[in-house]
Amino acid sequence: MPGNRQIIVRELPKGALTEAHFALREADRPVPGEGEVLLRTILMSIDAANRAWMQGATYREAVKAGDVMHTYAIGEVVESQDASLAPGDLVAAEARWAEYVTLKARRAQKLPRLRPLSQLLSVYGIAGKTAYHGLIGVGRPQAGETVVVSAAAGSVGMYVGQIAKALGCRAVGIAGGADKCAYVVKELGFDACIDYKAHADSKSLYQALKGVTPDGVDGYFENVGGTVLDAVLPRMNAFGRIALCGMISGYNGVPIPLTQPQLILQSRLRIEGFIVSEHTDDWPAALKELGELVASAKLKYRETVAQGIEEAPRAFLGLLAGRNFGKQLVKLI
Ligand code: NDP
Repeated sequence: MPGNRQIIVRELPKGALTEAHFALREADRPVPGEGEVLLRTILMSIDAANRAWMQGATYREAVKAGDVMHTYAIGEVVESQDASLAPGDLVAAEARWAEYVTLKARRAQKLPRLRPLSQLLSVYGIAGKTAYHGLIGVGRPQAGETVVVSAAAGSVGMYVGQIAKALGCRAVGIAGGADKCAYVVKELGFDACIDYKAHADSKSLYQALKGVTPDGVDGYFENVGGTVLDAVLPRMNAFGRIALCGMISGYNGVPIPLTQPQLILQSRLRIEGFIVSEHTDDWPAALKELGELVASAKLKYRETVAQGIEEAPRAFLGLLAGRNFGKQLVKLI
């Protein structure tokens, strides 16, 4: 049956990603086999990690040329060939940039009918859980400590600083542009925010950071890597913790610097990378805490929503260029 618009990866990028690497095509609606469901995609999550998936296998399979672009999404079950799911059920799953997809029912996670649905991909989705796990589980901040987070106006970063504040920490963001920094401080309540784009190099960024972290940095939640990490490392206090969540500055395949690794030893730092999908045991606690913080107005969230499947490449490029505030989504219906 026709009527399934999807976006394929025409070619994998060798340098910068552009819209020309994608193409919109009309395909047949797939038919679910035994144990599968047909999903109608409602909301697609646009994530920085999607770019890393195009560079090769990471913690998951790589995106290949000719693939319908991979994504995490929310959809409604339209047809089911498995007893565990019925038409009308709402699920989250690894899906594709497509209006309809089939997948194994056991790979779909049934969701509550929460409104607005977008919350299930933002504050109660991977972004919220990532912020919670990385900050609490990996960074382990104590009240009175200073916590710094990069990509602070992004979907993960904005929660990290707010949760740190709720724990009684000093929260400092690093973000691109005066608007984002003003938002992070005035709307989200961070103590300070540094515009990394206003600094030519890591030394200058370090000086600016020094001005807003008088007691040094105890916890750093890293989303960016490269020169930003180079600026933060010398501000880390002895026995500081770095939760290595993401390194977006390196996702296009270009090597990124780490100019003073000796500081890890000198300051006896603990640096720990994590992938949130490997910590599902923590998710119920994360969702409970996030829900309480939202209910008590200690946690605000913001989303940037593009409309229509054809907008997905532009939304993705916008996120890589920092044009999103908070969670970037594409809404299909
Ligand atoms: P965000 O909503 O944070 O958007 C990405 C932001 O990164 C942009 O808005 C931009 O903000 C900033 N950015 C882009 N390029 C650069 C650059 N070269 N240098 C500095 N900043 C840059 O995206 P996500 O929520 O999808 O992801 C945030 C981070 O969390 C990513 O690193 C991602 O890989 C990671 N992540 C990790 C998970 C895990 O399990 N470990 C799970 C989910 C996400 P600005 O305007 O401030 O530059």
